[in-house]
Amino acid sequence: MDYEVVIGLEVHAQMLTETKIFCGCSNKFGSAPNENTCPVCTGQPGSLPVLNKKSVEFAIKAGLATGCKIANKSVFARKNYFYPDLPKGYQISQYELPICINGKLSLKVNGVDREIGITRIHMEEDAGKLSHEGVDKNSSYVDYNRGGTPLIEIVSEPDMRSSDEAVEYLKQLRNILVYLEICDGNMEEGSFRCDANISLRRFGASKFGTKTELKNMNSFRNVQKAIEFEIKRQFEILEDGGSIKQETRLWNADKNITESMRSKEEAHDYRYFPDPDLLPLIVEESWVESLRRELPELPSDKGLRFKKSYNLADEDIDVLISSKKLADFYEETVKVSDDPQSASNWIRVELLALLNSEGKDINDCKVTPQHIGSLIKLINKGSISGKMGKSVFKEMYETLKFPENIVKSKGLVQISDESELKKIVKQIIDKSPNEVEQYKSGKSKLLGFFVGEVMKQTKGQANPQVVNQIIKDLIG
Ligand code: ADP
Ligand code: ZN
Ligand code: MG
Repeated sequence: MDYEVVIGLEVHAQMLTETKIFCGCSNKFGSAPNENTCPVCTGQPGSLPVLNKKSVEFAIKAGLATGCKIANKSVFARKNYFYPDLPKGYQISQYELPICINGKLSLKVNGVDREIGITRIHMEEDAGKLSHEGVDKNSSYVDYNRGGTPLIEIVSEPDMRSSDEAVEYLKQLRNILVYLEICDGNMEEGSFRCDANISLRRFGASKFGTKTELKNMNSFRNVQKAIEFEIKRQFEILEDGGSIKQETRLWNADKNITESMRSKEEAHDYRYFPDPDLLPLIVEESWVESLRRELPELPSDKGLRFKKSYNLADEDIDVLISSKKLADFYEETVKVSDDPQSASNWIRVELLALLNSEGKDINDCKVTPQHIGSLIKLINKGSISGKMGKSVFKEMYETLKFPENIVKSKGLVQISDESELKKIVKQIIDKSPNEVEQYKSGKSKLLGFFVGEVMKQTKGQANPQVVNQIIKDLIG
């Protein structure tokens, strides 16, 4: 394909504030319909918005974590349109003067370092929700609980060049917001949602092609599939000599296609103007600096620290820092086991595989760092072998019993006692004069034969290191 793919993303993230952005209603998810509403968030005449300071704090933190400049002055504007889930007839957003501008996100995609510009981050309120599946099938219902939920919209530059880059950008951005504890990052519930703008242009062309905007993708997997579908669709139109219509398209996850929703509205259609009910927002430099000092360790810094303190491979680190919960779980396990590499192995390989096989992740994990740390200690002390460790791990995962107890109740103790093992090895040597001859004459592969025999006799409980040493001492 001699076309270059151009992608820019607009992400809406719901802020985890206690209350809504312009009123004191609860911002809790999952309440009964219209339980969390008041005259302000249902758009009653004469009601007035009051800005929630926490939502500003969260937006600033998002800006600081993505290298943005924080605007000293920003302005709320009305974006006018009619929809039943928008009772005021306009959405309060920021338009010309957003709170954050000119940030960036650094990514590594398929081994290549990429930098994606962030144009702006602005604050706005979410709309309510329509439901067409109520008691009366011929009616639509509206729930205003979500109306007035604080959102930030993070708009990227058209800097991405593949669906892989777009997905990696989203994963990193989501991870940052979750680390900041300002968004739960739940894509299925819509608290982290993305619109993808896509266009193609011939390599070497200086101007961008006409873009389409994709909505309605509620997982990374769907973002990837939707973008791939759209690239192919546009490519085929362009190759046929056709032209791309600027429009908004919806991803249909059942049919695996994008479908036209509406032709793209222009900004002037919304008649943006500064909201006269809200003063311009002035943010003092000193406040920004104190928020900067409060920022937690972000994923990229955590990765550097893991490299330095635990000397892990990059692939290990990428997995471990992919969620704050997982990273914390890992560090707790290191504290208990005092073995960073084993902690990483058991968590990455065994724990994540078991969770994954049940469609779960670390947030649903019942086994604790104390469990895994104690298991590692048992193995490192030589009480059980690594192989036994695996079956203990499985049982521990299922029953939440501590490894010491599992080992005891199953009589799984590893035999490391030298004199005991020496007796067994001697018996085997006496029974196998041929193998001993061959081993002595240089067939060192036969070491495995002897170890295997010892394991048979001890039902796998012999400590292989000790057995190896004894065999070498006696006939090596
Ligand atoms: P609109 O006015 O249509 O909303 P914006 O300029 O606000 O367009 O950009 C919206 C998003 O689309 C941004 O993330 C931007 O990077 C991206 N974008 C703009 N032009 C293109 C293009 N030609 N191809 C792909 N993405 C684009
Ligand atoms: Zn309210
Ligand atoms: Mg736009």
